[in-house]
Amino acid sequence: MKVSLMLAAFGAVLAMASASYAAASTGSPFYGDPPDDQHPWAIHDQNRPQPKVVTPGTFSTPQQPGKPPSDAIILFDGKDLLKWEADKPEGGPTKWIVNKDGAMECTPGSGYIRTKEKFGDCQLHIEWAAPKDVKGDSQGRGNSGIFPMGLFEVQVLDNFNNPTYADGFAASVYGVNPPAANPLRAPGEFQVVDIIFRRPIYKDGKCLDPGYMTVFINGVLVQDHAQLEGPTGHMKRTKPGPVADKGPLKFQDHGNPVRFRNVWYRELPLRAVEGGTDGPISAEATTAKRKEIAATVRQDAAKLKDPASPLPELLRLMESLVYEKDEPTVQKVQQMAEQYIAGVKKLPADKLGAKKDDVKRLNAAFQYLTKFNLLPATFALKVEIENFVKEQGWDKK
Ligand code: MG
Repeated sequence: MKVSLMLAAFGAVLAMASASYAAASTGSPFYGDPPDDQHPWAIHDQNRPQPKVVTPGTFSTPQQPGKPPSDAIILFDGKDLLKWEADKPEGGPTKWIVNKDGAMECTPGSGYIRTKEKFGDCQLHIEWAAPKDVKGDSQGRGNSGIFPMGLFEVQVLDNFNNPTYADGFAASVYGVNPPAANPLRAPGEFQVVDIIFRRPIYKDGKCLDPGYMTVFINGVLVQDHAQLEGPTGHMKRTKPGPVADKGPLKFQDHGNPVRFRNVWYRELPLRAVEGGTDGPISAEATTAKRKEIAATVRQDAAKLKDPASPLPELLRLMESLVYEKDEPTVQKVQQMAEQYIAGVKKLPADKLGAKKDDVKRLNAAFQYLTKFNLLPATFALKVEIENFVKEQGWDKK
């Protein structure tokens, strides 16, 4: 007896869980908290765009470079340096080489190498190896550098059993912030570097975002959203300030034949300060986005127009009111819902039951809009439909 009661209770819990899961999984509108002045979408909003599909790559091992994800822009894949040029003289042919193992290698004394392409914010993937034959110490051993936009150095240095000043360590933001750890492999082995680079953003001389770098080496977090200062300097601090939106990626020639392989980047979504919608955005930007979403939903509603079945268009129009209170839409909703419910009320008793689910959906939509003050609680039609549902006993389980 006890067991069966427990099972029944357990069954009820399961049923509840699956009911709420089913509701969430259908992405039903009129569901969670609506948009507000910092969120252009409702919570669990089905109108929020789906994440784009990216086919993942494979991870690298010290022996073998991995494959980039499908949306990566490849800068060096082991074949040639067609996407690269000399930094000095600007745009001239580089003297760096592709060696017999398919790595690009610094020819000491030839100067920095840079990409022909210019880009800004990015997820950047690079693998580098210091010479296996250890020569020199401190900053003189396996030194190179990764410069997103040609400006901010993520240090490349063989710090395997090789101390140096901390803010010049491998994966330091050079001269600014030491790495949080030293996860380097032995010299000669490839080190896998992943960088999330966010450039500084200024508007009218005002700093909107100072810019940041997050860096992983061999899968270990070493820079956690480290704030940028000015472009990298040596012995002197540089002041933060406006920079271009894009620049070439540069690798440093510091006199050591450091090798690089598997170099690619991915573009990052816009930040809120540049018109993106990730994270909290301004009330002004939120209103603009909500207007845009409402317009799209209304356009979509127009495509659902069907005299035989007005409900899909009507519900979609009501959904648009979640984002923007648009008076012509309110009037259209009122008119369509009035006609619809008047038609239902005229049905003979034996045909009425077939409309139960549709009317309940319409009722739920009005309940949602009034609950969140998107329509006044006294909206006459809402009250009328609510009463009709009660009269029919459709509000009972
Ligand atoms: Mg360096």
